[in-house]
Amino acid sequence: MSGIVHLVGAGPGDPGLLTVKGREVLTRADAVLYDRLGTEALMGLCRPDAERVDVGKQPGRAKMTQDQINAALVERGLAGRRVVRLKGGDPFVFGRGSEEAEALAAAGVRYEVVPGVTSAISAPAYAGIPVTHRAVATSFTVVTGHEDPAKGSEQTDWAALARVPGTLVVLMGMGRLDGIARALIAAGRPPGQPAAAVQWGTTPRQRSVVATLATLKGECDAVGLGSPAVVVIGEVAALAARIAWRDAARPLAGRTVVVTRARAQASGLRADLEALGARVVELPVIRIRPIPAGPEIERMCAAIGDFDLVVLTSANGADQLFARLAERGRDARALRPEQVVVAIGPATAERLAAHGVRADLVPERFVAEGILDALTGRELAGARVLVARAREARPDLVDGLRGRGAEVAEVALYETLTEDADPGLVEDALGADAVTFTSSSTVRNLLALLDHDGRARLAAGPRIVSIGPITSATAREAGLTVHAEAAEHTVPGLIAALVADAAG
Ligand code: SAH
Repeated sequence: MSGIVHLVGAGPGDPGLLTVKGREVLTRADAVLYDRLGTEALMGLCRPDAERVDVGKQPGRAKMTQDQINAALVERGLAGRRVVRLKGGDPFVFGRGSEEAEALAAAGVRYEVVPGVTSAISAPAYAGIPVTHRAVATSFTVVTGHEDPAKGSEQTDWAALARVPGTLVVLMGMGRLDGIARALIAAGRPPGQPAAAVQWGTTPRQRSVVATLATLKGECDAVGLGSPAVVVIGEVAALAARIAWRDAARPLAGRTVVVTRARAQASGLRADLEALGARVVELPVIRIRPIPAGPEIERMCAAIGDFDLVVLTSANGADQLFARLAERGRDARALRPEQVVVAIGPATAERLAAHGVRADLVPERFVAEGILDALTGRELAGARVLVARAREARPDLVDGLRGRGAEVAEVALYETLTEDADPGLVEDALGADAVTFTSSSTVRNLLALLDHDGRARLAAGPRIVSIGPITSATAREAGLTVHAEAAEHTVPGLIAALVADAAG
């Protein structure tokens, strides 16, 4: 069977800018050769068993030359494989995709080009700069800035480009920005003409500077804005002040936020933060381990229908309860309609609903004390109550229930353990703008990962944002300042507190 090589444009970095066709071939490929720039966020779409070759970095070797890349594509194509060559932006815009196409054609390998969204247009667009505008630019020219304007041997005629009245878009130009600006000004472009640079365009790390042709280099240097960036020269650059659509929709743009919750639960929070513009460092400091079955859990499962009140104090608890019932061939029908089911908050109620049980009671405050308040007025003397929860949970709820005469069965269904952390990620987290804590255990376990110096940096550096008063108290006891606390003790409440803190 003959193989096929797809030369795929990955788009500029925002994974949503991959084409539908690109996604289709990427998810089916059995080998993917990729460049780092623009493709990071997409590699997760590959089949888990796909061969992945980072052509920019080979283990223990220098980066592959273009000839080696061509040969690697030809070899895999001839071997009958389904190959994707994933390239940042568009494969035929300064991507050397054309050289790969020629090599494949010469070797008689079937191939296909899947164009992509080029950074030349999309990075400016994400910074609020249209490359054309009816009133100010009727053309745009895309040029590489890689060639030295001071050398005679170059192919780029900067003086001619200076005379074209439209927008000039320069890729790979940061290294020679000074020389390019000088050459353009010398050939007649006004020094005061608007000019912009957009670094890491369309990604969470996007930054941009809008200045003039004469001042752009200095202003980029002042804020440390370098490669990879797209430079836009022309009147359109000034429109960024009016069309800054992305900043308005993204109150966390430019901020790095650490997510400490367990890996299995982090993805929703991560996606929400990224949608608001944050760069997210996922540093799971805890992991959830189900407690092995024992007599307590057996009794609970057998007698679940006998309790008057069933209380769940976390989403994990709800999941674990139904997992245990399922292991014994039982489901939501094991509960009886007369039983009162209490969920500590909306996330727990949502998990219960997913298992087919509607919570009868969700307190106003999503903390253990809130449950006791919500039960005020109910006769608890002699009531049989199940509290299904984490091993390390606080005793307050159970003590409170017992204090009111309830007969409480407290069953630990899971425990939270410290997750091992990559030192690089810890370093990244300590340099972040904000750290989020979704439970006391996330506070304790992050601190457990840090040495003395790390703790001092955590206390002095990032803003600390907590989901609620118990988590805040744990943080304060550990010597941290809590800068913001969620008013509603949920993940959306935590995000709202983070956004308000960033704005203030
Ligand atoms: N084929 C690519 C360009 C490859 S050349 C495309 O169509 O976009 C590499 C240059 O592209 C970088 O030096 C930089 O100038 C630009 N570039 C690529 N991705 C970028 C991004 N996300 N933000 C800013 N510039 C980017």
